[in-house]
Amino acid sequence: MNKRIVILGGGESGVGTAILAKQKGYEVFVSDFGKIKESYKNVLIHFEIDWEEGGHTEGLILNATVVMKSPGIPDSAPIVKKLVGKGVSVISEIEFASKFTDATIIGITGSNGKTTTTMLTGHILETAGLNAGVAGNIGDSFAKMVAQDPKDLYTLEISSFQLDGVVNFAPHIAVLTNITPDHLDRYEYDFEKYIASKFRIAMNQTEKDYLIYDADDPVITGWLEKHPVKSQLLPFSLSKEMPQGAYIKDNTINLKIDNNQFTMTTQQLALKGQHNAKNAMAAATVANLLNIRKATIRESLEGFQGVEHRLEQVLKIGNVQYINDSKATNVNATFYALDSMSAPTVWIVGGVDKGNDYRDLYPLINEKVKAIICLGVDNKKLLDHFSNMVEIIVETPAMTEAVKMAYKIAEKGDNVLLSPACASFDLFDNYEDRGRQFKNAVRNL
Ligand code: ADP
Repeated sequence: MNKRIVILGGGESGVGTAILAKQKGYEVFVSDFGKIKESYKNVLIHFEIDWEEGGHTEGLILNATVVMKSPGIPDSAPIVKKLVGKGVSVISEIEFASKFTDATIIGITGSNGKTTTTMLTGHILETAGLNAGVAGNIGDSFAKMVAQDPKDLYTLEISSFQLDGVVNFAPHIAVLTNITPDHLDRYEYDFEKYIASKFRIAMNQTEKDYLIYDADDPVITGWLEKHPVKSQLLPFSLSKEMPQGAYIKDNTINLKIDNNQFTMTTQQLALKGQHNAKNAMAAATVANLLNIRKATIRESLEGFQGVEHRLEQVLKIGNVQYINDSKATNVNATFYALDSMSAPTVWIVGGVDKGNDYRDLYPLINEKVKAIICLGVDNKKLLDHFSNMVEIIVETPAMTEAVKMAYKIAEKGDNVLLSPACASFDLFDNYEDRGRQFKNAVRNL
């Protein structure tokens, strides 16, 4: 009898998995509780894959040999509980797809910096001329790439939701950028469970594999002390000199793996900010492990122009720099954005607060922020926290208005920074929509 895979969720990872599973001879059924996008439906129809939307037909699901659950679906969904109760194996897309490739896998996870570090690593590998692809949370799904555009190397951005559905997945090189509280609604508001989920990236690694991680992050180092991993540890740090791994001293990145050394000044890095220096150390460590030439690593780190919505320089108007950091959806990301400001800053903040603790930001606000514009449906918490800290604090529920206010307040030499520290869905479709509206409003000034 044919193996039957049921795929819950008809988005990028669901449809990618469906294509790969069909190619590998599975009987495939895609079931989405909501609506499936037209473009994805067309792909399913093209590949003659059965699907349903607007509900789950149990009779067509509970008979699965294996189930791929898309990352957006929580374990608490009734259909998932039923499957687990029946003993059906429920896995994630990266688990499924990794069975069908022998390529070298670089898996990048963390609370912040995943996309930047993944793109940066992908950029170095591409500059080096390797047959390498970037997939996962960005662009095409990993499964689709394995099916349609196989590579020798994959750099994968991996979320904790993908890691929750991992059984045997073992990247040769894992990167853990940092761990700060995020998405806790999916982890029963238990930070430990979220940390454990992130560390599943190293769960199946062996002594031949590597784990690159932020040694300045007490959550990571604390966890490693109590839960040792088998892989070889390659830490990176902004200050701590270490025998193996990367650190910064006198504005120079020093990377050492066994007898192999690499140095580069932080001024040479195209991406600014301490957090990006960390991302650069992580990417350079990966590249070094893959024996990429030092000149190529240097050239790539000098040339990488960054990713949209991450501290993106939009325009300079009247000598005021407008910066779009819409992807900063938590306090830690905003911390690094403010930290990297080298001029007085008009800060646009707000949205859906995910239980933020703003205290970490206080010193930076005192030092760098001259005015705050609260952009959200409910700005009370922001007003309560920050009213005593700056002279000007205003609120609005409209992006155009927020940008106009910033324009009026900012003076020559200042920055206007959108770094919301909050999710976007009170006023916007998603963070991309928020960032685009910001850029349009700036361009229309
Ligand atoms: P992710 O994919 O994990 O969300 P991104 O690279 O998209 O990470 O960046 C998300 C936000 O976090 C942006 O505002 C970015 O400027 C900030 N950021 C990037 N790298 C780091 C890092 N290493 N530590 C903290 N914040 C970071």
